Amino acid sequence: MIEERFDAIVVGAGMAGNAAALSMAKRGMKVLQLERGEYSGSKNVQGAVLDADILEQLTPDFRENAPLERRLVEQRFWIMESRSHIGLRYRFNDCNHQRPNRYIVIRPEFDKWFSCKVKEAGATLLCQTTVTELAQNRRGRVIGVRTDRQDGIIHADVVVLAEGVNGLLGTCAGLRERPTPDQVALEVEEMHLLPRETIENRFNLKRDEGVVIEAAGTISRGMTGMGFIYANKECISLGIGCLVSDLQRTGETPYGLLDRFKRHPSVVPLIDGSELKEYSAHLIPKSGYNTIPQLYGDGWVVIGDAAELDSTSYRGRLNVAMISGKIAPEAIFRVKSRGGRCTSNSLSLYKKMLNESYEDLKKRICRR
Ligand SMILES: Cc1cc2nc3c(=O)[nH]c(=O)nc-3n(C[C@H](O)[C@H](O)[C@H](O)COP(=O)(O)OP(=O)(O)OC[C@H]3O[C@@H](n4cnc5c(N)ncnc54)[C@H](O)[C@@H]3O)c2cc1C
Repeated sequence: MIEERFDAIVVGAGMAGNAAALSMAKRGMKVLQLERGEYSGSKNVQGAVLDADILEQLTPDFRENAPLERRLVEQRFWIMESRSHIGLRYRFNDCNHQRPNRYIVIRPEFDKWFSCKVKEAGATLLCQTTVTELAQNRRGRVIGVRTDRQDGIIHADVVVLAEGVNGLLGTCAGLRERPTPDQVALEVEEMHLLPRETIENRFNLKRDEGVVIEAAGTISRGMTGMGFIYANKECISLGIGCLVSDLQRTGETPYGLLDRFKRHPSVVPLIDGSELKEYSAHLIPKSGYNTIPQLYGDGWVVIGDAAELDSTSYRGRLNVAMISGKIAPEAIFRVKSRGGRCTSNSLSLYKKMLNESYEDLKKRICRR
């Protein structure tokens, strides 16, 4: 039974949760982080492109020790027909070279490393622990959480909800609404193992160079969605995602779409002879700036995908998740260091700081 009281409880150890737990622990706050997976990243089997500007602010030495697959030097866009594609290639040899800030990472490895940084900073992480309920007092103020590990409430001054897009805690407690099918996309992704040399030859890469292909056109069968291919060190990530409402309307299955994408004559030569390692499926918020839910209340804030912070850039979501994971703790810390309580009124600072954080935050988050 955990009797002690925490300054903050962070629910989830994905990108947003890790950024938040790290920011607060570095400020000397007493932080408990709860993750239902076996370890941080175990629920996010995916290759991903990471814009690293916020990561650099949180861990300036990340280039020396983070498990980075490749630095991105080339972006390809494919407009696909049933058996062909029109391609556009943008290569930036100089720009991502000296202090690269855009990398391809494999989430389970990267999140595990990020989580070590959180623990080194002094936060307590409990994995294989599902938060089953937000504990609220009679006035509706969130005072802590209940978990599947023990009876009773674990108390904290503030609960940071970083439970991802499908997070049920916030919706069950009536703090936010469940996204509707036209507000989320379902993405499926596979990892294909290939020798490093083969990948570098097929994608025309040297050493740590990386390439991303984004593909639109007939592969999404008329639905809103796109496919992607990332060249990692020794595997290729390949996936496709479409709006859930479109999948419901058409009866198309995500796996059927992925299978067709893999069998496309433009894709076959890239993955030929590979060994399928992993398959995963995940929702992605697509609701846009104007439908961002309430981000704070008495005793709680919500960050990352749980806050439906989508990004205009397909690959900007991790960064946006980390922006909120950095700013919410700054707001909480300011409130607490002035001796204030984490009320709805005082935590409105988070939304204000989020809005002011980037001149282009509205542009970063899609408008629909
Ligand atoms: C296939 C795919 C490819 C993607 N590629 C990219 C990309 O290239 N670049 C990019 O920027 N973004 C990409 N994204 C989006 C990116 O993965 C998300 O935006 C990001 O993971 C959001 O981080 P988060 O921390 O908010 O949520 P998550 O990473 O989903 O983390 C939430 C965590 O909370 C835990 N959790 C949930 N409920 C509970 C509970 N009740 N108790 C305890 N723990 C709980 C989960 O286990 C999980 O670890 C991709 C997404 C998918 C699906």
